[in-house]
Amino acid sequence: MGRVYNFSAGPAVLPEEVIKQAQEDLFDYKGCGMSVMEMSHRSKVFDEILNTAEADIRELVGIPSNYKVLFLTGSCSHQFSAIPMNLMKHGVADYIITGQWAKKAWKEAQRYGQANVIASSEDKTFSYIPDCSDLDISPDADYVYICENNTIYGTKFKTLPNTKGKDLVADMSSCFLSEPIDIEKYGIAYGGVQKNIGPAGLVIMIIREDLITEDVNPQTPVMLQFKTQADAGSLYNTPNCFSIYICGLVFKWLKAMGGLEVMKQRNEEKAKILYDYLDSSEMFKGTVEKDSRSIMNVPFITGNADLDAKFIAEAGKNGFVNIKGHRTVGGMRASIYNAMPKQGVIDLVDFMKAFEEANR
Ligand SMILES: *Cc1c(COP(=O)(O)O)cnc(C)c1O
Repeated sequence: MGRVYNFSAGPAVLPEEVIKQAQEDLFDYKGCGMSVMEMSHRSKVFDEILNTAEADIRELVGIPSNYKVLFLTGSCSHQFSAIPMNLMKHGVADYIITGQWAKKAWKEAQRYGQANVIASSEDKTFSYIPDCSDLDISPDADYVYICENNTIYGTKFKTLPNTKGKDLVADMSSCFLSEPIDIEKYGIAYGGVQKNIGPAGLVIMIIREDLITEDVNPQTPVMLQFKTQADAGSLYNTPNCFSIYICGLVFKWLKAMGGLEVMKQRNEEKAKILYDYLDSSEMFKGTVEKDSRSIMNVPFITGNADLDAKFIAEAGKNGFVNIKGHRTVGGMRASIYNAMPKQGVIDLVDFMKAFEEANR
């Protein structure tokens, strides 16, 4: 069997070039006689992998020198705790609830201080992004928190909230490096890499230096203190070396593709193919308000659960896999991250058209 079109929300498709490079390097990384999985994280060879990865993401995003890049072991959900523990100096933070990941982060923050909900789209099953141009920001909020792209519901902030001078913290897991990022608008931009960048078990955090302090919740485990990892160059503990290495290959791939502006154009083109069809189809419908649509995660339904199930099964048999919607919302979801080729989306739409024709 060859490769399928993998529409998984995460862990997700990686560029074929990267997988092939990893395969070539696996047995003997660049003549050092061992794989990246087997080498010391303090070796010269790994040092080069880590430093090159950092230099490449800095170049891709255009990260200013007063921001640090941290490669943190673990999952995005770890940061739901670490962020309030490190940042809630006044014990207050404002959360915008646009889906389950924001809600989980908000729930966790309540353990460490007063976490306010200042906007939410739960009233319409998170199918839109609320107007965040003039919110009731708490005067003593230490930060304002968003989940920028809502993986499960398929919405994306097209305009960042007006935080009225407070630092913005954004979970970018499912839109990380899908388009240019204006880093200076964020205090922290972070995400688990397993959606759009690399293998699970690693978080990349871009954080403004002044937010890295010793003045943190005294209960903060040493591993969750940003200062620990910043001071140690992300090598306080043994990091997820293999994931860092693959992310590094993906950064090289992104640079060769032409960078984030080019990725944005490609991603918009791909998403348009699918959304245009959803808007014209009599069987399939998108579930999200048009001005809030994500270009990474595209949920859709037929309105008939049996027909959804039939579609998912037939799609799978035809090489379009992992297209089932999140278990909490049902229907379908096509995640069309950076590494999903345009042809994959074209072929999916052709398949949907044929299915619609055959099941009228
Ligand atoms: C997948 C996802 C998470 C959870 O990531 P884990 O690494 O499993 O904790 C958090 N936020 C967003 C936006 C996600 O897509």
